[in-house]
Amino acid sequence: GATIGIIGGGQLGRMSAAAAARLGFHVHVYATHADCPASEVARHVSIGAYDDAEALRAFASRVDVVTFEFENVSAAGLAVLEELRVVRPSRDILEVSQDRIIEKTRLSEIGVALAPWRPVRNRKELDAAVEALGHHLILKTTRLGYDGKGQFRVLSADDLTALPAELPYPLVAEGVIAFDRELSVMVARGTDGTTRCFDVTQNIHRNGILDLSLAPAPIPSELADRATRLATRVADGLGLVGIMGVEMFVDAEGALLVNEIAPRPHNSAHWTMNACLVDQFEMHIRAVAGLPLPPATRHSDAAMKNLIGPDDMTLCDMIFRTPGQSLHLYGKAEARPGRKMGHVNIIFPRGSLPGRVGLAAALGPLADFDPEDGSENF
Ligand code: ATP
Ligand code: MG
Ligand code: MG
Repeated sequence: GATIGIIGGGQLGRMSAAAAARLGFHVHVYATHADCPASEVARHVSIGAYDDAEALRAFASRVDVVTFEFENVSAAGLAVLEELRVVRPSRDILEVSQDRIIEKTRLSEIGVALAPWRPVRNRKELDAAVEALGHHLILKTTRLGYDGKGQFRVLSADDLTALPAELPYPLVAEGVIAFDRELSVMVARGTDGTTRCFDVTQNIHRNGILDLSLAPAPIPSELADRATRLATRVADGLGLVGIMGVEMFVDAEGALLVNEIAPRPHNSAHWTMNACLVDQFEMHIRAVAGLPLPPATRHSDAAMKNLIGPDDMTLCDMIFRTPGQSLHLYGKAEARPGRKMGHVNIIFPRGSLPGRVGLAAALGPLADFDPEDGSENF
């Protein structure tokens, strides 16, 4: 059989590798550590840095097609890969997703709305950004941020004075959106340009980290249709081949503002593993392998809870004993605080995703929200 090469050995690589193996492919992973989550599933693991052109060249020469679970391969590394093999998604899209300034510029060109933003490459541009956006902004490193790392909130003049003298430029400054809710759409696009969108997901973050995803998002169909069209437009606009998560805010007026894109499987679509016949990982592998893309049909409703750090890991015994819950662990040895250790999908018959009170009951000790508190909108 053909060999799928996956750059990155984390949980997204592990679950992509499992889907590829199910489809009869060999899997060769490129990772920085031999004992990574994907090593349990892949036939081969090559070890190297993401900027090691020679090691990447050796890896590429041993696979038939290259894809990613980790976006931050160096430009030189990407060039080497693309020289040797078909790379899906393309180097162009990877480079867009690696840099928030390029990302926002391209998304604007495609014609989607964003939070107001300014590039901040020095103190002068920071002052200009505060002038333009006011004292209500988030500074984000342009590269390598995830789970809210590399972000500084500036919500007052005092916060601005309290910023460290040496900021990790370049940054972007974004106006803080008083969003009504956060949504994401997982869109797959095949080699023939066919697009398939999984149902819109609503995401609830805690400390900048995804905590809970609800599918389908409890929103009017008109809003869901707009979110789906938006994600399709971005996928077409970037010429995607593969899968991509599009994160967005719904603002107070009901307008959709794109937050960021991730051209790879996405944490907010892990519910597809138990609520869809073909999940995001199989869809991803199919797109990368040039196979037909089936409709992204959802047969059940789902809530996905991330298991983060040592505290959430204590819930595993309970999850194992609870019907209707499917546990996915990533095989990480050390449960550091803030580290994604696994997730649990709580499955409901289609059309019966409960409201806030019912969800609190169904989630039990997994939930840490107050069911009577209506401030969270679901
Ligand atoms: P990840 O890649 O893990 O999704 P990240 O580090 O790239 O995260 P963002 O997605 O940019 O970070 O931000 C994390 C969360 O912070 C968002 O999901 C949202 O809840 C909040 N956030 C980010 N930007 C804004 C904004 N402009 N206004 C309001 N909230 C924001
Ligand atoms: Mg991100
Ligand atoms: Mg994000």
